[in-house]
Amino acid sequence: MHYVGKELNEECAVFGIWGHSNAAKLTYYGLHSMQHRGQEGAGIAVTDGKHIYDHKGLGLVNDVFDHAKLEELSRGFAAIGHVRYSTQGGNIYANVQPLVFRSQKDSLSIAHNGNLVNAHKLKGELEERGSIFQTTSDTEVVAHLIKRDYADNFIESVKHALSVIKGAYAFCMLTEHQMIAALDPNGLRPLSLGKLGDAWVVASETCAFDLIGATYVRDVNPGEIIVIDNEGMHSDFFTNRTEPAICSMEYIYFSRPDSNIQGINVHAARKSLGRMLAQEAPVDADVVTGVPDSSISAAIGYAEATGIPYELGMIKNRYVGRTFIQPSQELREQGVKMKLSAVRAIVEGKRVVMVDDSIVRGTTSRRIVGMLREAGATEVHVRISSPPITHPCFYGIDTSTSSELIASTHSVEDIRELIGADSLVYLSVEGMKEAIGRNPAMKNCGQCLACFTGKYPTEIYPDTVLPHEKEVLV
Ligand code: SF4
Repeated sequence: MHYVGKELNEECAVFGIWGHSNAAKLTYYGLHSMQHRGQEGAGIAVTDGKHIYDHKGLGLVNDVFDHAKLEELSRGFAAIGHVRYSTQGGNIYANVQPLVFRSQKDSLSIAHNGNLVNAHKLKGELEERGSIFQTTSDTEVVAHLIKRDYADNFIESVKHALSVIKGAYAFCMLTEHQMIAALDPNGLRPLSLGKLGDAWVVASETCAFDLIGATYVRDVNPGEIIVIDNEGMHSDFFTNRTEPAICSMEYIYFSRPDSNIQGINVHAARKSLGRMLAQEAPVDADVVTGVPDSSISAAIGYAEATGIPYELGMIKNRYVGRTFIQPSQELREQGVKMKLSAVRAIVEGKRVVMVDDSIVRGTTSRRIVGMLREAGATEVHVRISSPPITHPCFYGIDTSTSSELIASTHSVEDIRELIGADSLVYLSVEGMKEAIGRNPAMKNCGQCLACFTGKYPTEIYPDTVLPHEKEVLV
């Protein structure tokens, strides 16, 4: 899903399974299918009904787990897992999830996808009341909140903690006796519920269900808390103040094309975005090509709607390591060439429509346009299947600060010139909403549009921390 130089990064995926003798291995497979959502750390926690056991580490799921490690976890009949993305400097072992908190009485393990906007504030308050934090992760704040008033009713304590935290959260939690799934009141991140025989499964994306042979049951609702134990599945709400606002970028870029988010297939949504883009921004050209992998569906939609043939004008070399670990700009430029190539036989002498899903800083687009011209394209028309990203995301997507977002400081014409395209058109906000095809009766069709409009579905606090800033906080 991610290719080199892509400037948007997802912040994680969660997975959970209750009531299966192969819980750890199935969690491993589930995490593997969602590896595109985070490549820097992975972990699994299991319970055998008496204790919680866990293993986690830095790197890909395959790097962290081997046969022996999974065997050690095989005593669990329930498991939760997590894959994690983090930015420069902050990729420390202590922050890899699931986080496990042990006490004499019992244990709690937490996997979190999203970003809390009041974590900094809550952390300050908790520290004043004596809490000591081991990580720079906002997830630890939730554990402290739960444990603080863990009176006699654990679930009530979880519900209270969920109502105090603000922002984006899809949680999977595990104790010795139950698994909990919960989603923030806006449902900013996806979270689905499935079944595998008698076992219950929870995952950030439905592609995880397909891989392990589970059946999709439904999506977790905004503001809902689902408790699964040996008695079965129980649903409740920790708030009635809900307003659906799922991240639009899940459809546009992050999720896997074979996943369905709230009944809409991601590939179908992207094709529809491409068709809408063709309606809004047609152009005379010879071939349409999409930037691999996430823009291919939109490019196919654009080609279908315009009748211009879709061609594989660019290919991705899948066996090159990620380039953001290479320090110098020069090496990063080399990295792009190593990872993406224009296909000369397709683009030479042709007027090319290059469909991409987004422009963040603009550097990647400039390189790709240059690559197509070097390969002989006579014209390069860039079509973006999302509106301009003008505002930072506080909900778990690393989009950088406003000043780094090219569309927050430059006009579309300026951006066209900077990336060296013959023409540049973005999809409109209205076109995007219509193309994705969610419920038009809901506010913004039930989507978060904040990075395009600056209107955030939650309160943003003066000390709200961006995902990549969080990592350097102590
Ligand atoms: S601000 Fe943008 S990237 Fe962040 S959750 Fe909203 S739509 Fe998604």
